[in-house]
Amino acid sequence: MPMPAELRPNLAAFKAFLFDLDGTLTYPSGPVPGAAEVIGALKNLGKAVAVVTNNSRLSRSELAATLRRYGMPLAEKQVVTAVTATARFIADRRPGARVLVVGSPGLRAELAAHGLALVDAPPADYVVTGVDRQLSYEKLARAAEAILGGAAFVAVNVDRFIPTETGRLPGAALVVGALQAVVGRPPDAVIGKPGPGLILEACRTMEVAPEETILVGDSLVTDLPAARAAGTAFGLVLSGLSSRRDLAAADRPDYVFENLNELLWALGTSVAPG
Ligand SMILES: [Mg+2]
Repeated sequence: MPMPAELRPNLAAFKAFLFDLDGTLTYPSGPVPGAAEVIGALKNLGKAVAVVTNNSRLSRSELAATLRRYGMPLAEKQVVTAVTATARFIADRRPGARVLVVGSPGLRAELAAHGLALVDAPPADYVVTGVDRQLSYEKLARAAEAILGGAAFVAVNVDRFIPTETGRLPGAALVVGALQAVVGRPPDAVIGKPGPGLILEACRTMEVAPEETILVGDSLVTDLPAARAAGTAFGLVLSGLSSRRDLAAADRPDYVFENLNELLWALGTSVAPG
């Protein structure tokens, strides 16, 4: 439920600001207008800032480097990806667990870096799914057997598509859908948005409570439910996936911004637009 307008705090009252990446701070072709100014203004105000992204193709250091190139001076630890959050989720629950991965080399590396034991065949404690460019019948068959044999089914995210410079490609839902159809149940946990895991991990990293945090994102389908599930406020920017027309049908965000310049103005650090 959105907050009633009279209870909605001034934007500047939030201690921490989380930003979605694709369609909010960046496009495949470059930065979203106003992104560098917003990040700079929040830094000047002494706010905690982090980026939370379902992106599982690039490492945190690669993402941080891209953001710096676009004028957003963010450190690696201020970038929280669904891959990192997934590794921590499993390592916290079962240190050294056996994990069967259907996903990218980057996902495998992150799981191994958290002390988890990668296995290529059942038995496994966890099956973790992401985007896998080397997907095969054999890999899916081994993953399905592992889940049917008792492994927990954990999805990094369930995005249908990933945006690229040359158009969209199928996302992690491709693997989840195939496995789900065979094992007869959806994933036991979805770490990325619309699940709460990524947002909670970012709050933990920044040492802030969800109630003093706002997520800013462009999707009513993934960002808004993630914010609600984690207990943060949600501000929609109309620079990406969701439009004003979608608002009528959806759970209403706590804030709606035409673009990042309007958010900057709402922070009280810029002159009124127009
Ligand atoms: Mg987005």
